[in-house]
Amino acid sequence: MAERLSLSRGDSARGGLHLGTAVQYLKGVGPRRAALLKAVGVETVEDLLSYIPRRYLDRSSVTPIAKLKSNDQATVVGKVETFGFQKGKTPRFVVILSDESGFLNCIWFHGLEYLPKVFHVGDTVVVSGPVTFYRGKTMTHPEFEVLSGSDHELIHTGRVVPLYPSTADLKRARLGSRGLRRIIKPALDRLGSDIPETISSAILERNGLMARWEAFQNVHFPDNIAAAKEARRRMAFEELFYLELSLALRRSRRRQRADGIVFQKANSLISRLLEELSFQLTPAQKRVLHEIRADMKSKRQMNRLLQGDVGSGKTVVALITMLIAVENGYQATLMAPTEILAEQHYLTLQNLLNKLGVQVTLLVGGMKKLPREKAMLFIENGQAQVVIGTHALIQEKVNFDRLGLVVIDEQHRFGVVQRAALRRKGVCPDVLVMTATPIPRSLAMTLYGDLDVSVLDQLPPGRMPVKTRWCDERKREEIYRFLDEQMHQGRQVYVICPLVEQSEKLDLKAAKEMAQRLTEEVFPQWRVALLHGRMPSAQKEKVMRAFSQHQIDLLVSTTVVEVGMDVSNASVMFVEHAERYGLSQLHQLRGRVGRGKHQAYCILLASYPLSEEARLRLRSLCDTNDGFRIAEVDLSMRGPGEIFGTRQHGLPELKVADIIGDADLLRVARQEAFDMVEKDPQLRGSEQTRVRCTLQKRYRSKMELADVG
Ligand code: ADP
Ligand code: MG
Repeated sequence: MAERLSLSRGDSARGGLHLGTAVQYLKGVGPRRAALLKAVGVETVEDLLSYIPRRYLDRSSVTPIAKLKSNDQATVVGKVETFGFQKGKTPRFVVILSDESGFLNCIWFHGLEYLPKVFHVGDTVVVSGPVTFYRGKTMTHPEFEVLSGSDHELIHTGRVVPLYPSTADLKRARLGSRGLRRIIKPALDRLGSDIPETISSAILERNGLMARWEAFQNVHFPDNIAAAKEARRRMAFEELFYLELSLALRRSRRRQRADGIVFQKANSLISRLLEELSFQLTPAQKRVLHEIRADMKSKRQMNRLLQGDVGSGKTVVALITMLIAVENGYQATLMAPTEILAEQHYLTLQNLLNKLGVQVTLLVGGMKKLPREKAMLFIENGQAQVVIGTHALIQEKVNFDRLGLVVIDEQHRFGVVQRAALRRKGVCPDVLVMTATPIPRSLAMTLYGDLDVSVLDQLPPGRMPVKTRWCDERKREEIYRFLDEQMHQGRQVYVICPLVEQSEKLDLKAAKEMAQRLTEEVFPQWRVALLHGRMPSAQKEKVMRAFSQHQIDLLVSTTVVEVGMDVSNASVMFVEHAERYGLSQLHQLRGRVGRGKHQAYCILLASYPLSEEARLRLRSLCDTNDGFRIAEVDLSMRGPGEIFGTRQHGLPELKVADIIGDADLLRVARQEAFDMVEKDPQLRGSEQTRVRCTLQKRYRSKMELADVG
């Protein structure tokens, strides 16, 4: 039968200690350990208390020795009967404990020098560990704690015990979970309830959150697991609240400033463009353009995120937005994440813009010296009205004459720093960022700082969903026959080659071999070409142009086509080694087809062995064409860090909260923060004093974020 151990509370004399005290001055730390702790971001007592357990072991129930079962994880309280070394192949230290019901052997294979000094016959000891029946009931390497005196408070066992993340260095310095407990517990006891609150009582009450000092106590040494969870929730809320507060303030400041360009005119170029287009704008496109137009007309600088699934028609929205800038005598620039995409945009837009008499210039890294210099000259003297490029645009040498609008395509691939660099090429230009990775709104707003969000939630009419299948190597012949059939019907085909992440060179080799085999052996009667990221720009441009003009039937490519290629006659996307790609990436690839009036297909060829996750990815793709659903599955599988590279987004690193797992908490924290700023934009109220102080302390260094976005 398990019974609960009663735990006595320590005394909490604070003795000069406060949250700002350097950990070095804590008992048992010192300069050497302080340096190691610094390496994991712990410098002050506050950092130490924010270094929260990664999980807990519930050792609060004690089992009588007679009731122990083999393979149990159990906690036992017993008296030391005897102890000593046992010889054998590996020397060991053994302690024999007894309680009223039986005897237990505890065995250690290391720590042999210090263990004999720890135990005394007659001591009461608490041990927790795995039970085996090996020459009697045995625990190997149990956690233990010797109880002496009546006021002893358990910290390692006999209770819910915290397990901390630890590095090899920390462990070597005896700062594993055990060592950390030893320094955290006395610090907590000394501080007691004397820890300043950072959140107003109204907010705490509204959201059912415990006080800050209670959270610190309970996150480290909870009475039960539920209390630990509540404590963690409170700490996560605080972290998210201050993050959102900083965003809310930034947005409010931007809204108050009136230094944006006022783009008055927007008629002649756009109406001429609309005549040139072979289609009508969708209602979603019109609505989004309306939102953009309002931003551009106003004195506030536009800072807008445009979300729209692959194929929803973001490019034409970007184009019209750029024309507004051009019509008002400003330059506009569109930055794309890859050269192929920039070149693709250039080809698409060049045709249309030339008809309107608008000068468009391309600038990418892979250009030869002469054309590049010419492009830079045009950009500088203002002859280039629309400039399309890659991050080559943000080099120092590139100077715009009168940059008024910045459009960033597939924004999740750029970091804040790059976005800011491009924005600084103009004087307070309006900014539109576009992404095909739809994510929940609150998350988007946090990841993308304080952007306003527009959503293209509608595909152009007449799109048939892409039919998606996955299969294995045995179907290869059948697939080739199908591609052949499609090409006979006049369609074009993409074949995406294996991606070997580690090596671009291998990638290239695989792609080249594949192209060769398809040309010579499989499809000698069709026009096959190869496209990859390492090709010189001019050559890439040539291949893309040829493919879009149907001078090529089958395009073998590395994933450079992932974003942006737009050839509506292409009807099949055939992906080799589909198991190696991420979900969003596959969705992007699939988005290259199904852009015209013909039924389109996506064939995913996967090689065994397949992980459970890979199977789930392939199945999700076959199940849905909805980018929003796909993004959700992707998020839940990989977490936001991997997908968005939160670090490069300039999002401060979160110690406690998890931006996906705590999505609900994020929503309430955001609401509270934005409400607060709405009511009191300067946080002037006396109620807000502590909030203001906390914010300054926390974000002064981290809010480089505040200047970019
Ligand atoms: P994405 O949002 O993925 O960047 P694109 O801008 O490349 O999508 O558009 C996909 C295709 O849809 C392009 O061929 C484009 O010309 C076409 N398109 C865009 N808007 C419309 C529309 N309103 N009606 C019909 N076709 C459209
Ligand atoms: Mg696009």
